Amino acid sequence: MPGFPPPLERLIEEFGRLPGIGTKTAERLAFYIVKADRRDAMGLALAIHDAKRRLRPCRVCFNFSGGETCEICADPGRDHGLVMVVEHPRDLAAFERTARYRGVYHVLLGRLSPHEGTGPEHISAQALRHRLEAGGVREVILATNPDAEGDMTARLLERLVAPTGVPLSGLARGLATGGSIEYAGTEMLADALQHRRTVVARADGGRP
Ligand code: ZN
Repeated sequence: MPGFPPPLERLIEEFGRLPGIGTKTAERLAFYIVKADRRDAMGLALAIHDAKRRLRPCRVCFNFSGGETCEICADPGRDHGLVMVVEHPRDLAAFERTARYRGVYHVLLGRLSPHEGTGPEHISAQALRHRLEAGGVREVILATNPDAEGDMTARLLERLVAPTGVPLSGLARGLATGGSIEYAGTEMLADALQHRRTVVARADGGRP
């Protein structure tokens, strides 16, 4: 196979690691960068550098944050007793766009996926349990995506959260099965939130 110069090979290889990018697209992107104006290309490099240097997971909810705690967790105007569990910061952003949710979040940073090899240890599920054990939360809303892996993730969370006695609710099934929160309309999300259903009611046993 006739090779490209090593710096170009490396660029193609790096693009090829990105999700949803095949070899052909990786090559197209790499050629685009090589041909691009130096300032544009360096703008991309600097944006990557800056995002990796400045962003870290919020120590409370695991949302991307520019500091120790994200803006939502640091906001005293939010209801900190209401925690919505989402898979990705992209889902959080979708709920924020509805402007109807005043609670806070817990971001899993993934989902269970046997075929991608993602297990409970790869998501922030245990951290959610510890957060609930620390007290102060009166309801957890499970807002994983309405598909097989999202449902599997929700079942895991139900089992993990059950011993804490915190009541659980789930989004109303207004979202089409197999659909995704990220691309759902804001009205649909606001509706699914407003008409949420109880999954596990307040535990009545084992508490003083
Ligand atoms: Zn946070």
